[in-house]
Amino acid sequence: MQLAQRLDVVAESITLAVTARANALKKQGVDVVSFGAGEPDFDTPAPIKKAAIDALLAGKTKYEPTAGTLEARTAIAQKLRQHNKLDYQPGQIIISVGGKHSLYVAFMAVVNPGDEVIIPAPYWVSYPEMVKLAGGVPVVVRGDPANDFKITPAQLAVAITPRTRMVIINSPSNPGGHTYHPSELAALAAVIVPHEHIWVCSDEIYERLIFGGQQTCSWAAIDWPVWKDRTITCNCLSKTYAMTGWRIGYTAGPQKLVDAMNKLQSQMTSNITSFVMPAIVEAYQNPAVEHEVQAMRQAFEQRSEHTWRRLTAIKGITCVRPTGAFYVFAGIAALLNKPIGPKQKVCRDAVEFASELLNEAHVAVVPGNDFGFNDHVRLSYATSMDNINKGIDRIAKFVQG
Ligand code: PMP
Ligand code: GLU
Repeated sequence: MQLAQRLDVVAESITLAVTARANALKKQGVDVVSFGAGEPDFDTPAPIKKAAIDALLAGKTKYEPTAGTLEARTAIAQKLRQHNKLDYQPGQIIISVGGKHSLYVAFMAVVNPGDEVIIPAPYWVSYPEMVKLAGGVPVVVRGDPANDFKITPAQLAVAITPRTRMVIINSPSNPGGHTYHPSELAALAAVIVPHEHIWVCSDEIYERLIFGGQQTCSWAAIDWPVWKDRTITCNCLSKTYAMTGWRIGYTAGPQKLVDAMNKLQSQMTSNITSFVMPAIVEAYQNPAVEHEVQAMRQAFEQRSEHTWRRLTAIKGITCVRPTGAFYVFAGIAALLNKPIGPKQKVCRDAVEFASELLNEAHVAVVPGNDFGFNDHVRLSYATSMDNINKGIDRIAKFVQG
């Protein structure tokens, strides 16, 4: 049996694989503490659920326009105007099946075979794989932990070639937990501006989860007249509204790009589930929902500080202090290549370390290899304080004996 060659160039998502492994162990009765899944432990706010249930009961069960209902796209356009200072018309917005699908359709719309796509590392695992699926070539620019994983304008400048088609910016970042200040974004933008053939794909899905007074802004808002025609703004409801299972993402961009994405999506998935579209309007317009979003953000901020403090107190672990999202990307270089854990195993990289930690201490973390750092592991602190404490106690015991 032969499968398509494109399968040879992609890897399976490690984030989903670790989560599945932790869940399988839990099912077998093992008491696993999971820092794997990048998804809020909170439930979707009730008014959002009710909007979908009402729509379903009201018979909203038919095909809708490929890009999504006008009402949902109008609510998104309003949100982008009020919150992000971006002036997109509803016709310049396309709703897709989660942030992942939004990014994938966007990449398929702009990347030609052989095109280079600049991806700052550490990066979300799916970017390079999606670029490769589109025929492109990922060009990784490594952020220095000493600079909070942020890439510098000088690093970006040397990575640009005549083949560069796109730069991906993800702020706040999965897995780095770092967030670019508007002035840092502007400095990167100044490097890209003269290269008119380059798009910027701004993945803003963690935009509402920022901590410690950190400031940020949408990429296209750096200088709207300049960037409105060259920015692909991607977002989703998954993280902010605790709606990972709903699969709602969207892209806003210049008309030509959104038309191209519409064309592709019309042959792939058509519209997202019809009766979840009123839930988008509810999420963006109900003040009670906004209240819950702020409460969730506060909880993430407390967990962030706590997780970071406790982890950095463990000898051999180093961590950049998170300013956004819900991840700590912990450096474990000092723990590699020497005996560790109850079995005194020598781990050569983060994959071996994470596997040993799961088997011996029953703590699931995601190895950093597929995020571009093979001496780091990612912990998602989107779990209760009790779990965080229990998990870090186990890590400390595993590391310190
Ligand atoms: N971008 C980043 C940076 C992510 O971490 C994720 C994973 N949630 C996505 C996009 C995809 O989001 P979704 O779950 O809505 O597909
Ligand atoms: N993005 C989340 C994570 O990084 C969910 C899993 C995925 O889609 O990769 O864990």
